[in-house]
Amino acid sequence: MTTTSQPAAAVTALLDQARRDYAALTSQGLALDLTRGKPSLAQLDMAAELLQLPADRYRAADGTDCRNYGPPKKGLRELREIFAPVLQVPVEQLVAVGNSSLELMHDCLVHMLLSVVPGAERRWADQDVAFLAPVPGYDRHFALCERFGIEMIPVPMTADGPDMDIVEDLVRSHPKIKGIWCVPKYSNPDGACYSDETARRLATMETAAPDFRIFWDNAYPVHHLTEEEVEVADILTACTEAGHPDRTFVFGSTSKITMAGAGVAFFGSSPANVDWWISNAGIRSIGPDKVNQLRHALFLGDTDGLRAHMRRHRDILRPKFDTVRRIFARELEGSGLATWSDPKGGYFIALSVLKGCARDVVRLAKEAGIAVTPAGATYPYRSDPEDSVIRIGPTYPSLEELEQIAQGLTVCVRLAGYEKLAA
Ligand code: PLP
Repeated sequence: MTTTSQPAAAVTALLDQARRDYAALTSQGLALDLTRGKPSLAQLDMAAELLQLPADRYRAADGTDCRNYGPPKKGLRELREIFAPVLQVPVEQLVAVGNSSLELMHDCLVHMLLSVVPGAERRWADQDVAFLAPVPGYDRHFALCERFGIEMIPVPMTADGPDMDIVEDLVRSHPKIKGIWCVPKYSNPDGACYSDETARRLATMETAAPDFRIFWDNAYPVHHLTEEEVEVADILTACTEAGHPDRTFVFGSTSKITMAGAGVAFFGSSPANVDWWISNAGIRSIGPDKVNQLRHALFLGDTDGLRAHMRRHRDILRPKFDTVRRIFARELEGSGLATWSDPKGGYFIALSVLKGCARDVVRLAKEAGIAVTPAGATYPYRSDPEDSVIRIGPTYPSLEELEQIAQGLTVCVRLAGYEKLAA
């Protein structure tokens, strides 16, 4: 973040202008919402055929009657085959289950608290447990930790993933640190992609906790915004080669591929972890929604079909991200008041405003009729020590609304920023 070194008179003039612009903004009576990264209606419509599937079919490729209770415990193989290459998990080690990856992360934590995970000496409920939380990060990961009394230790993100010097140092010396949240590709909210070196260090690092787990939340594996389809390292193989086969839990879902409210989620890991998962999950449920899995397999066809479908998503999303970036650049570049990420995929842009200004920007936006994710949401305990990061989710609003939102936000950034500089 750069700071302005404007003379006081110039700042006063800029503040006056920002006040006038803000008065004009509030007089528009806007009612716009940028709070969550949701697929837009056009994206959901692209999966409309799902509502007609599986038509009169109910048998999976192996003959399973999907309408009934029963195996396969890992979910339908034909769907797992489509997602195995994308999530970089061998098909035998990939489970398709449930509607939301977040619920699988939740359940993993519950099972680790209540039962002994491979490699553990005791269940987690009987110990102090802490997780590393790369920041800025995903608010719902942090909510899960809070829910279960798991302490969070923030670690700064870099362009290549979490700062691995800090991570290695912490996990080597603290046995209570039993996990780390990772969104390896097009991270929420800054769009960072983990480098091969970061993945290698995560796989090989020495941990004081024998039951340490990487929660590898690969929420955006095929969610590219540019022609460059970024690939990240295969963490499961890296861990196995490093002698830590059980270290990683991989999560994914079709939430932002088909229908966020009616998708399929995935859990992938070592054979021992998958057995552990299945034995615990089998107590919670007799089996997943196989009809939904069948309709997804029929709709997507194969991995190429999945990738082609996501290119159509890209055609919808890219202009939205471009609009936000164009307006931010036009209104804020060179002001020293803000910087913003330039993601090559995923669902978010991280806007960093002057230290101590994020809450003010969000409040000003709200008062002008633009609802933005609360400042601090991307930090554990909702506490951004710099009060600087604001998460922007441009996917849901229309292009026209985004123009208004981005323009309005820049007015709020200028008003809060120049007020700060003038104080
Ligand atoms: N993980 C990350 C990093 C996300 O950004 C999101 C949604 O925004 C999710 C998980 C939620 O996924 P699901 O719908 O599969 O629970």
